Amino acid sequence: MLDCGLCGFSFARDEASSCHRGCPMARGCGLVSCPSCGYEFPAESKLVALVTKLGKKLVNR
Ligand SMILES: [Zn+2]
Repeated sequence: MLDCGLCGFSFARDEASSCHRGCPMARGCGLVSCPSCGYEFPAESKLVALVTKLGKKLVNR
């Protein structure tokens, strides 16, 4: 399962769109997009989502 770093939605990797049409690498760039909000992030691990969350917190400060 993957957790969206933006909205917290959990989904299977199969459910995620592999990557957006606007991606320069077209396909297989390693990003997935959340079916709920469309946020794109690397599918590697939950740690990435956590880091994204922390980064967002810092930006919002
Ligand atoms: Zn999301």
